[in-house]
Amino acid sequence: MPHPSYCHPPATIRSLPILGSRNRYPVRAIYCVGRNYADHAREMGSNPVDPPCFFMKPPHALVTDDAPVPYPPETRALHHEVELVIALKSGGRNIPPDAVWDHIFGYAVGLDLTRRDIQNELKKKGQPWELAKSFAGSAPCSPLLVASHSSDSDSPWHLRLTVNGIVRQEARSSQMIWPLDRLVAELSRYETLEAGDLLFTGTPAGVGALEPGDRCVAELVGHTRLLCTITPEGSRSGL
Ligand code: MN
Repeated sequence: MPHPSYCHPPATIRSLPILGSRNRYPVRAIYCVGRNYADHAREMGSNPVDPPCFFMKPPHALVTDDAPVPYPPETRALHHEVELVIALKSGGRNIPPDAVWDHIFGYAVGLDLTRRDIQNELKKKGQPWELAKSFAGSAPCSPLLVASHSSDSDSPWHLRLTVNGIVRQEARSSQMIWPLDRLVAELSRYETLEAGDLLFTGTPAGVGALEPGDRCVAELVGHTRLLCTITPEGSRSGL
């Protein structure tokens, strides 16, 4: 096929740094799951035994390299949700849980930034969540730790988020309702997963509001971390 001539320049490929490498990880799609820790499901008034609730963010939601995040417009309650992020190096459909580990390229920590006020309104009306979850800058993410294969399947990742030096959220991935292998297997029943796909795997309890000037440090403790500073609405994103 001849090289196409586009009517405007195509969007830039979004990518994550990889720890210990000069290469970067190009992102294709960003999947997310809601209500994957019982304590957070309860704080949001949901039933912790419901099946996972999947949604997506567009690639332009991704914020990398510790770039600042401007407070989003039309928002009164911007909430942090710290999450373990997995990055796939391959995929497919109907992946069995025990094969999931072979598809994981690496791990990161991210923030599923949420316009909680808008989400609550949308929920009440039974409308889709996009304006609450999928806005530009809503997915800050750390550099990727490359999977080490042998021990990943039972790694109890330690997640922590501090805001202005105070711990807001802290959990082990072993507290997830749906563990990583079952989450990816379940998602692959509905979508053909591919290299470049990220999955934000849900947040533990302790979500709360952010304000301009707040400095968030999200960690996969001992492995990788993300610095996210919230800047005033309308400021330059630095992306
Ligand atoms: Mn979330």
